[in-house]
Amino acid sequence: MITTDATDLPDLREMPGDWRRALAVVAHPDDLEYGCAAAVAAWTDAGKEVVYVLATRGEAGIDTLDPETCGPLREREQRDSAAVVGVDTVEFLDHRDGVLEYGVPLRRDIAAAIRRHRPELVVTLNHRDTWGPGPGAPWNTPDHRAVGRATLDAAADAGNRWIFPELADEGLQPWDGVRWVAVSGSSTPTHAVDAAPGLDRAIESLLCHRAYIEALTDQDPEEYVRDFLTTTTGQAAGRFGGRPAVSFELFPR
Ligand SMILES: [Zn+2]
Repeated sequence: MITTDATDLPDLREMPGDWRRALAVVAHPDDLEYGCAAAVAAWTDAGKEVVYVLATRGEAGIDTLDPETCGPLREREQRDSAAVVGVDTVEFLDHRDGVLEYGVPLRRDIAAAIRRHRPELVVTLNHRDTWGPGPGAPWNTPDHRAVGRATLDAAADAGNRWIFPELADEGLQPWDGVRWVAVSGSSTPTHAVDAAPGLDRAIESLLCHRAYIEALTDQDPEEYVRDFLTTTTGQAAGRFGGRPAVSFELFPR
């Protein structure tokens, strides 16, 4: 019989710690805060450098705000939320929210970002079809699937001088130093980071997306955010020695 009960799955292993620079590439403002800001806080506490790259400004994310108003607002919220967990560099690739397409242009833009920042660890959000294993799991969004897949591919593209030769002409030399791509929110995680030390800052970081959250729920924003992150990090604890955890599916290179 096939079962997806967490108790039948192997323990999540500790994420590798022998690296200095990480680049997180996601589709929207809040993608990192809903998933892995507690891990980012732990990494920056340990003296590691983390940079965020967002494919869009999330301008199609709030029904009651037109994109021209929403984009700059969500950019500000994203910069504030990054600063809470020790991330000072946040870049936007200026793709259009909601209609991201997996393909060569997106791979090229992400490969360029990897060459600019030369990370050993690349982080992205769930590239798989659903948010959980097994039948009945919620369907993922096209933007997340596109960016996740393009990021996994761009980790290799960045190291090959012949795939996007125009990047070298722009001064971006090949970087073949990505050792892992870690996918947050994956339906099949393999590794984890202890969420406890960074959890309060992760809550504060997600709360920075206040306009988005207030449009999303009638619940008190602080209560909503604390419930969400406590629940999701608690769900991973069963496979991580009882510790609340941020889980990742880790692809070594
Ligand atoms: Zn998103």
